[in-house]
Amino acid sequence: MGEFELIRQYFQPLADNARQGQLILGPGDDCAIQRVPPGQDLVFSVDTLVEGVHFPPNYPPEYLGWRSLAVAVSDLAAMGADPVCFTLALSLPCAEPEWLAGYSRGLARASDAFGITLAGGDTTRGPLTLTLQVHGTVPKGMALRRSGACVGDLVCVTGPLGDAGAALDFLGSPDPTGNEQAVLARYHYPEPRLALGKALVGKASAAIDISDGLLSDLQHILDASEVGAELDADKVPLSKALVALKGREALTCALTAGDDYQLCVTIADEQLALMDLHVREQLITIGRIQAKPGLNVANTAQIGSRQGFDHFRRSD
Ligand code: ADP
Ligand code: MG
Repeated sequence: MGEFELIRQYFQPLADNARQGQLILGPGDDCAIQRVPPGQDLVFSVDTLVEGVHFPPNYPPEYLGWRSLAVAVSDLAAMGADPVCFTLALSLPCAEPEWLAGYSRGLARASDAFGITLAGGDTTRGPLTLTLQVHGTVPKGMALRRSGACVGDLVCVTGPLGDAGAALDFLGSPDPTGNEQAVLARYHYPEPRLALGKALVGKASAAIDISDGLLSDLQHILDASEVGAELDADKVPLSKALVALKGREALTCALTAGDDYQLCVTIADEQLALMDLHVREQLITIGRIQAKPGLNVANTAQIGSRQGFDHFRRSD
C-alpha cells in the first residue's frame, strides 16, 4: 500500500467531519488552514510517543489511537483551551492494514469524544513513533498557566490518582481481575479534563495536567510561580481498585506515578466558593500554596525520594 492510499483509507475519513468554522482546510494540500476568531488566542502543543518508551511493544493499536490523542489534548485541557484540530506525524515500520484499522478506529473515537478534527500530517517509514500536534483556542489573554499560583491558594486535583501507574503491572495480564481491569481502563482510555479546564478559565490561578506524577508536576507550578506548597497526603484521592491492588503502596503510586491526566490546579478560596456546585464537586483540595519554598507532604511516612518520571534525571 502506498503512502497516499494509506492516508486516503485510514486517515482521510477522520477529517471528513471537519468542524465548520475554524478549520478552513484539512488534509490534502501543502498546509492546513485554521482561522482563529477575533478575541481568541491560538494555543498549541506537540507530543511524541515512541514504542518501547511511552507505550509497550505490541500495544493494541485501538488503545494507542485513543491514548495518543488523549495525552496531547490533555495539554489543551490544562490551559483551559477549546480543542479545534490536530496533525499526526506517523512513523511506521510497515503498512499493516490490521494495525492501521485499529489505530484509526481508536483515533476516530477520541477525536469525536474531544471535539477535535484531523487537519493533516506526515507519514514515513521508521520505528513506530507518533507525533501529534494539537491546536485549540482560548479567550484572549485567558489561558491557564503554571505561573499564577499565589500564597494562600488551595491546591486541588480533579480525580483519583495512581491508577494508570498501577496498571503498568498488568498490561500483559491474560485474564485481569475486576480491580485490574478498572486500573487498566484508566491507562488505556485517559479522559482529558476539557470541560473542567474551560470552567476554570478566569478562576484558577494556575494549572497543569498530571502526566509525570503529582509531586513532579506540582513542582513545575511551584517553580514557575516562585512559591512552595504543603500537601496533606490523607486528602489525595485514591480509587478503591488502587487501594485493593496496592495496599500501603497506593499513596506512593498516587503521588509519583504518571499517566492519569487529571489536572492539578491552584485557586483562591473565594474563587472556589463562587464556582458552580458541579464544578466544585470535581475539585478535591489536597493542600495550600505557601511562601516557604519547596513541597511538604504531611501525613506520610512512606514516600521515598522518587518524585515522578523525569526523562533526564532518572535515577531508578
Ligand atoms: P508535503 O510533501 O507537501 O509535505 P505530504 O506528501 O507529506 O505533503 O502530505 C500530503 C497531504 O497528506 C498533506 O495535506 C498532509 O497533511 C496529508 N497527510 C500526510 N500524512 C497524513 C496523516 N498521517 N494523516 C492525515 N493527513 C496526512
Ligand atoms: Mg508540500
